[in-house]
Amino acid sequence: MNTSTMLTALRPIETARDRARRAIVTVLTLVLIAFPFLGNAFHGLGLDWDIGDDDVDSIANALAYATLALGLNIVVGFAGLLDLGYAAFFAIGAYTYGVLTAFQVLPPWSSFWEPFAMLGLVQKYHQEAGDLVHFTLSFWIALPLAAVIAAACGVLFGLPTLRLRGDYLAIVTLGFGEIVPIVFRNVPYVTNGAAGLNGVMAPTLFGFNFRVDPTPYYYVGLLLTALLIFISFRLRDSRIGRAWMAIREDETAAGAMGVDHVKTKLMAFAIGAAFAGMTGVFFVAKLQTATPDMFGFPVSVMILVMVVFGGMGSVWGVVAGAAVLSLLQSWFLPSLTQWAHAIGASLDNAWLQQVDFARSTELIFGIILVVMMLYRRDGLIPATRKQHALSFEAQNVQGVRRGGFEPAATAKVLGDLPRQSGNLLEVRGVTVRFGGLVALNKVDIAVPAGGVVAVIGPNGSGKSTLFNVITGLVPADGGSIRFDGAEVLGLKPYEILRLGIARTFQNIRLFANLQVIDNVMIGQHARLRTGLLGAVLRLPAARAEEKAAQVRALDIIALFGNRLAPRLTQVVSALSYANRRRVEIARALATRPKILLLDEPTAGMNPAETLELAEQIDSLHKQGLTILIIEHKLDVVTRLADTVVVLDHGEKLVEGKPDEVRRNEDVLRAYLGRAATEAAHAA
Ligand code: ADP
Ligand code: MG
Repeated sequence: MNTSTMLTALRPIETARDRARRAIVTVLTLVLIAFPFLGNAFHGLGLDWDIGDDDVDSIANALAYATLALGLNIVVGFAGLLDLGYAAFFAIGAYTYGVLTAFQVLPPWSSFWEPFAMLGLVQKYHQEAGDLVHFTLSFWIALPLAAVIAAACGVLFGLPTLRLRGDYLAIVTLGFGEIVPIVFRNVPYVTNGAAGLNGVMAPTLFGFNFRVDPTPYYYVGLLLTALLIFISFRLRDSRIGRAWMAIREDETAAGAMGVDHVKTKLMAFAIGAAFAGMTGVFFVAKLQTATPDMFGFPVSVMILVMVVFGGMGSVWGVVAGAAVLSLLQSWFLPSLTQWAHAIGASLDNAWLQQVDFARSTELIFGIILVVMMLYRRDGLIPATRKQHALSFEAQNVQGVRRGGFEPAATAKVLGDLPRQSGNLLEVRGVTVRFGGLVALNKVDIAVPAGGVVAVIGPNGSGKSTLFNVITGLVPADGGSIRFDGAEVLGLKPYEILRLGIARTFQNIRLFANLQVIDNVMIGQHARLRTGLLGAVLRLPAARAEEKAAQVRALDIIALFGNRLAPRLTQVVSALSYANRRRVEIARALATRPKILLLDEPTAGMNPAETLELAEQIDSLHKQGLTILIIEHKLDVVTRLADTVVVLDHGEKLVEGKPDEVRRNEDVLRAYLGRAATEAAHAA
């Protein structure tokens, strides 16, 4: 199986389900486009089905919720950042448009405003006491402006807080969500306080004023939703989207694979906020009023429920979730209430006659959410599909290869490794303490360029800590680590990766809910350039880069032959243990490393698999890759390493050739205990 046939395998195979889904989307889109006129059409057919302004307005509201859900989905679904105060950005967008069009802020007129008046941004407002300035920002300018302002607020708010994870972030966002409406309530000269802004301008388009007719708003909402769906998909399937998901799956591993997590999270926050900002403009223009309590905690929760209900991370899912829950509220619950009253009247049941389901929306949403969590946790339309096991044929599309990687293919994957002499990596006197525990005590290790150094030692001797300090995951309490002439200590994990240090983890840290190919693609993150704009517009440069990255990922996966090649699109969590180890090595190779740090790569593998992997590591070495490996199996160590370093209780015990180390008394003692050594001597 070569790369081009694998590329075909990557192209999604259109299943009956895909066709059905596309048909549904097409039909729904057509129905939605025609919807405001369906009432007339029904009348023309002699049917007495009425579609009134109320119904059009209900759907316009549902569309506003859909755009909010799409934005929150980027934050919560893609990047995995639990945001409980998302409505704050909705409020910021709403007030941007509200303040700049309502008759609230009216500074005195002066010639300063003349140019703005010519641009149509302000008008002279005649008053007895003197002329005032009335802001008349166009709705169409307000949409992008609010997006930018909300995104900027997202960045400002995110900078200090996004270092927090999980629950802490949730609490802080909750606070932010509470603060924003309070601020709007307490600057009455700008926002008219709790009473809110009135007389917000209706949009005009080519001289046509929208006023209070829901139909034009409906179409604007439809276009906005379509645009945000498009952007969501473009971002999801890009370098940025993959980085978001990497952070969601495992922030530590994402950092070690070159993802700058603060920047990446800020992007998610900013884009999510921008979506909400635009929706705020739309919503307030439609209502022509804005009050602080339109944007409180219940709104944030409602949007979150829509996202969870629809399927976190699923673009169509969250749109469906928003539509269903919003229409449930505006259509279904009032109808249900009427039926209940009618049934109550005929049964003479007092409770049924008085019940009002629309007033218990929160309760009903809560129940729906609980039921959903019990029976369909992935939401209405899950983001990832269930995987089926491969058939026997599919598993063997490529002949079984035992032994090392093919030299030419390996050389291609590794690229030009500088053939240099001297030490590539030098660890000098590094100490790491965890409280009172000294995990590493003044350790010196040198890895010559092109060499293989093995680190052995009993459990808890500090081997993994050595890797962690080299890759920036734990800080050092002294010493220096130089790589390729540069000091590494003090750099962030993603900066260290960019220098060319890649690693695997002892307890495999893959992006478990992503496919094999995506895991390997994320490995290339630091070597690719595409940013937000490139991802959304998908210009030729971005397209070419993505294609090349895909080909390279397939080249890397192809090294492992039919172990991985038939499983390109499998979710990693479904793979066997040995295959997960292979994917982790593939992901590390994708980062274009100069040195590869392998932490017990053969742990949990059977003897045949161990031998295969040892051969593969050897073929990487033969192509010039420098390797530092932690390994327990002494035959692997002897087979691969030029130099063996033995750690014990955080100190370097011995360093030497594998054979020397193998016979060393101290090493035997450290590994087997004194009694066993003596027994060995006695024998
Ligand atoms: P090895 O990989 O050689 O088995 P480690 O480097 O994982 O050992 O651990 C060395 C010692 O440091 C152990 O005693 C371990 O409990 C401790 N240790 C490792 N990481 C941490 C941490 N993040 N916090 C506290 N103690 C740690
Ligand atoms: Mg370890």
